[in-house]
Amino acid sequence: VTQRIDVAVLGGGAAGMMCALEAGRRGRRVVVFDHAEKIGKKILISGGGRCNFTNIHARAENFLSENPHFAKSALARFTPADIIAMIEKHGIRYHEKTLGQLFCDRSAMDVVTMLERECAEVGVRVRVGVRILSVVRDGEFRVETSEGVFRAESVVIATGGLSIPKMGATGFGYGIAEQFGLRIIECRPGLVPLVFSADDRERWCALSGVSTEVVATAGAAKRRGNFREKMLVTHRGLSGPAILQVSSYWRPGEAIELDIAPGASVMAPLLERNARRDSGAATLALRAVLPGRMAERWVALNEPSDWTNHSLAGMERGLHAWRVTPAGTEGYAKAEVTAGGVDTAELDAKTMQSRKVQGLYFIGEVVDVTGWLGGYNFQWAWASGFSAGQVV
Ligand code: FAD
Repeated sequence: VTQRIDVAVLGGGAAGMMCALEAGRRGRRVVVFDHAEKIGKKILISGGGRCNFTNIHARAENFLSENPHFAKSALARFTPADIIAMIEKHGIRYHEKTLGQLFCDRSAMDVVTMLERECAEVGVRVRVGVRILSVVRDGEFRVETSEGVFRAESVVIATGGLSIPKMGATGFGYGIAEQFGLRIIECRPGLVPLVFSADDRERWCALSGVSTEVVATAGAAKRRGNFREKMLVTHRGLSGPAILQVSSYWRPGEAIELDIAPGASVMAPLLERNARRDSGAATLALRAVLPGRMAERWVALNEPSDWTNHSLAGMERGLHAWRVTPAGTEGYAKAEVTAGGVDTAELDAKTMQSRKVQGLYFIGEVVDVTGWLGGYNFQWAWASGFSAGQVV
């Protein structure tokens, strides 16, 4: 039997659930389909289990996209204050951790429960463990699933990106975009640890576990990202918030630049009259700004043959512009997001509807809008989901 509904939302993550509850509120007959055994699995693992559900400073500038203006409209339509209001309405306690990042006090489960309740209240049906077999358009849409055929006026693709395949991520949304002739900006892992070249691994991986504040920069002129946050040396390469942030801007073959002593004149003590100039003195100076092991390693790898002013100036420059060319990233298995996706030029910025295919919508991570680390990706999921939910 074929069931008639108004809106089929494919994917029950943050974006899909927000879209569904908004459409349900408007009296639309909505069904959310998810192939996982429960909705919101990524919400549950997000923010270390506490879900960094928004960032109070979220603006279009905090997102990467071929069209940096695209996100503005949706972000203005549903702001951090709006998701905070919903969170508060459900009595969920939260706190600001750092840099405007809001986390649940208790558990990310609270956010999932909130979405389920909001959807239930407005009669949205949620079907989990369902396989989507095909989506065809013949006037309206015909969605064939493992649980029967549904005819809908609108289909919303909210199946997310490719990161963490273990959690049920699939390329489904990109496949649908291709099927309907929509352009896709090539996908790549974002917010992901970077892997050293074999040489750098030999030089640096003994420092695995060491963390320090840096200014990390990556990307060509037009898409340059610059972040002052912690960097962590791992047994394979570099990680920590500063590196995750710049990884979204990085492209294979490029170098990233690290200022590992931001704002400091590290070698100044060695330039003083009668000061000692040797590796011991340089290490001591560096220890003032870097963890001991890292200071020692840096000096061992960079000490000059003479200790002239010129050499000291060279060391100083090196500390503020350490160029590392990563061999790659740790890939989708470790990436928090998928950068790239459905080209925003294919979508209407107010509604997320396809310009070519009436009634077909793309929201959340499947779209070529990628947030920084720190609650921005959920804010995009809420905002794009809400925007579509208002019109589907
Ligand atoms: P998703 O949440 O991925 O939802 C997609 C849904 O579609 C899933 O339920 C999936 O099961 C379903 N689906 C997929 N394919 C199919 C298919 N073929 N058929 C049917 N259903 C399908 N962002 C933040 O802002 N703050 C954080 O704290 C944060 N922490 C993160 C931690 C980790 C470890 C990871 C991996 C990501 C984190 N992110 C965080 C990013 C954030 O989780 C995503 O950007 C966000 O979940 C995207 O929402 P979405 O609804 O577009 O997609």
